[in-house]
Amino acid sequence: MNNHFDTAVIGGGLAGLIAATKLAQAGQKVVVLEKAGRLGGRAMTNKKNGAFFNLGGHAIYLAGEAYAVLQEMGIAMEGAPPSAKVHALWNSEVELMPATPLTMMTTKLLSWSGKIGLVRLFAKLNSANPDALGRMSLRAWAEAEIEDPMVRHMLYALCRTATYAHDPDCQLAGSVLRQVKRSLKGVRYLHGGWQTIVDQLEQHARAAGAVIRSGGDVKAIVHHEGAVQKLLLADGAEIGVSHVVSTAPPSELAKLVQGAEHTTLHRWKEEARPSIASCLDLNLRKLPAPGSNVVLGLDQPYFFSHHTLNAKLTEDGTYLVHLVRYLSESERAQGIEESSLAQVMSILQPGWEKEVIAKQYLPRIAVVHDTLHTGRSELHTGPGVPEIRGLYVAGDWVTHGEMLADASAASAVRAVNAILQTGVSQRPRVVHVS
Ligand SMILES: Cc1cc2nc3c(=O)[nH]c(=O)nc-3n(C[C@H](O)[C@H](O)[C@H](O)COP(=O)(O)OP(=O)(O)OC[C@H]3O[C@@H](n4cnc5c(N)ncnc54)[C@H](O)[C@@H]3O)c2cc1C
Repeated sequence: MNNHFDTAVIGGGLAGLIAATKLAQAGQKVVVLEKAGRLGGRAMTNKKNGAFFNLGGHAIYLAGEAYAVLQEMGIAMEGAPPSAKVHALWNSEVELMPATPLTMMTTKLLSWSGKIGLVRLFAKLNSANPDALGRMSLRAWAEAEIEDPMVRHMLYALCRTATYAHDPDCQLAGSVLRQVKRSLKGVRYLHGGWQTIVDQLEQHARAAGAVIRSGGDVKAIVHHEGAVQKLLLADGAEIGVSHVVSTAPPSELAKLVQGAEHTTLHRWKEEARPSIASCLDLNLRKLPAPGSNVVLGLDQPYFFSHHTLNAKLTEDGTYLVHLVRYLSESERAQGIEESSLAQVMSILQPGWEKEVIAKQYLPRIAVVHDTLHTGRSELHTGPGVPEIRGLYVAGDWVTHGEMLADASAASAVRAVNAILQTGVSQRPRVVHVS
């Protein structure tokens, strides 16, 4: 490998592949270094017995930055929406969520005043201006705006599902409400899983001339006189660079940079509040309770979703379902035992164990490495690291208000724009996109 590049991208997940493709298409000499043996990061899909397992249930937000950026890059994202019929898990029982006039009339979950409260909540969600909520926490907003405790449970369940986090005391109300509004505009489960995005991005990056190296474990980002100079890899290789886009988590990035404790990287690491989940993903021969396709936990932070109702994720017509538990702060270090997830699955899909073809249990996986929370000293992160010229950050923790994969895509674009504005080492080149 030639050992000098205009930009080295650390990480071959969504953020890294988007950044690398765009920089290579703009004429830069780019290398992607991914420490794992394959690309995709948390957007990878594992194929087991003909079933496509994302890492936990993944849905793309149709009104979000990831969808817009990927579509503009020519990435196909074929798929289908989840079931519109939503159930609730309450007191270990599954009941229809009051979402239509009929279910509103018949639901046992809400009192009359609760029903009026729920209608008012949706009106409030419609009219609320997230930008005006400043640093108010989700809990503070919910307690000020919603009287009925069951309606509050419903709001929190909706917020958990839209943000993939269970942190109402610290999540910023404005950012959560923005995400809930966005999720209500539609989401899509992708045919073949999110690996289809990763594979297309890889093709586009390579076609534009980017060098991609999986198994490329970066051990240090060397800087000199306030500017990045080179990368050191675990195998002893050195790569000279003008720019680095790091998509590693803030804790990992701080380890890569000597003297990070004297830079903004230290604050980003210290203030990070990741959201973590435990997931049980199952390929089943049949669904014991075929009517329950989407279930929101109201008294427990669970979410169940059947992805093969409309999306093609198995080759033989069998079923793929995902159960996630959003972990509270006290649960984050340990994760949740598989047996606890299995118990909840038994309420939702009794007898599921007999139908298992393949499964994937993720005891604790970081959904995002940081969120917008009350303890952040600044709401926006990146794109540049102020103290080190040429070092940029991207990834789902590098948010300017976006969440999840939307933050990965939006931050990758910000890093690319910042690099291209420096005008260093750009050589116009004809870009062929396959
Ligand atoms: C259970 C679950 C469900 C989710 N559901 C959704 C959803 O429904 N909708 C949505 O929008 N988002 C969802 N997400 C989030 C989404 O998957 C992530 O935000 C996105 O994939 C992150 O991409 P990234 O490139 O920012 O980070 P990553 O995918 O983590 O990529 C970073 C890469 O950097 C590599 N790396 C780190 N350090 C080094 C190093 N030193 N050297 C070389 N390489 C390094 C890592 O190996 C990794 O591959 C979900 C995530 C999870 C876990």
